[in-house]
Amino acid sequence: MGFERLLGNEHIKANLEMSLEKGHISHFYLISGPEGSGKHTLADLLAAAILCQGAHKPCGSCTPCRKVREKVHPDYITIDDPEKKTVPVDLIREARADIYIQPNESEHKIYLFPRAQDMGLPGQNALLKVLEEPPSYGVFILLTTNADALLPTVRSRCTELRMQPLPGNLLRGVLEQEYTGVSAEAISAAAERGGGFLGQAKRLLDEDGQVRQETARLVDALCKKDALLLMQLLVPLEKSKRDALAELLQDWQMLLENALTASCGMRTVSDQARRLAAALDSRTLHRQYTLVRKAREYTLGNVSPAAVCGYLEWALR
Ligand SMILES: [Zn+2]
Repeated sequence: MGFERLLGNEHIKANLEMSLEKGHISHFYLISGPEGSGKHTLADLLAAAILCQGAHKPCGSCTPCRKVREKVHPDYITIDDPEKKTVPVDLIREARADIYIQPNESEHKIYLFPRAQDMGLPGQNALLKVLEEPPSYGVFILLTTNADALLPTVRSRCTELRMQPLPGNLLRGVLEQEYTGVSAEAISAAAERGGGFLGQAKRLLDEDGQVRQETARLVDALCKKDALLLMQLLVPLEKSKRDALAELLQDWQMLLENALTASCGMRTVSDQARRLAAALDSRTLHRQYTLVRKAREYTLGNVSPAAVCGYLEWALR
C-alpha cells in the first residue's frame, strides 16, 4: 500500500518510502503546509509506516496500521488541547517526561503535535530539551501551517516535509468524483481558489453546497428584478433575531462580492453568484453589495431587524 493514500506529493512519498525501506527513521519530522493540504494524512501514514509490521510499509492491513488508522495505537500520541488557543506547555512537559517510558507495544513511540505554530515560546523551549537528546525509539511529528513561527533551533533539528499543491487535473478529477451534482465550473473554481489543496477546495464546495433557502430566494428575486418576491422574502425576516439576521446578511454580502468577482471574468465557486453575474451588470451588483453591507452594519449597530428589512425592501427594489 505504501503512501498512496496521500494524493500528489510524489517527491515526499518517494523519499519517505526509500528512507524507511533502509530503516532510516528521523527523530523529528516537520510537516508544513496550509490548512487542508494533507498534513494529517501524511502524519498518519508516516506513523503507520514506522509502526507497521507488514512488508510494504505502511501495509494498511497489519494490527499497528489498523490501530493508527482508528486512532487507538497506544504508541502514537497526540499532544494538543483544541479548546486552548496555545498548546498548553504542561502537555508538552508531560510528553517530554512520558517519552522516557518505553513504548507499549512497538519499537517506537511517536508524538504528534498537530499545530506546532501554536506552541508558544515556553512550549517550544520545553520541546527543545528533548530534541537535544531523544531516546532512540522516540519520534516527533510536528505539523504546522507556518514553519516560520518555529524557533530556528527547533526547525533545524527536523526533517522538513513541505506539502505541495496538487496538479489541477488530478485535483479536479478527485473533486468531480466526490461532488457529482456540482458544475464543472464550480469544481475548477474551487480547485483554483483552494490553491491546489484538496481540503481547501472541499471546504469551498461544502460551504457553497449549504446555500440557505433565503439566499437562493434572494438570488431569484434579484435576477428576476421582482419586487414582490423580494417583499415576500424580507417581510418574514423582520421578525428574526438580530444575530441570525446579521449572519444571513453576511452570507448575502459574500454572495454579492462573489458575483462581482464573477462579473469581472474571474472564477467563483458559487453557482448562485454566477447566476447573479449573468443577470445583472456590475454597477447594479456593486450597488446591491453596498446596500447589504450597510444593512449588516445597521443590524450590528443596534437598528431593529424590522427596520433593517424595511430599508432593504425599499433600497433593493
Ligand atoms: Zn502495516
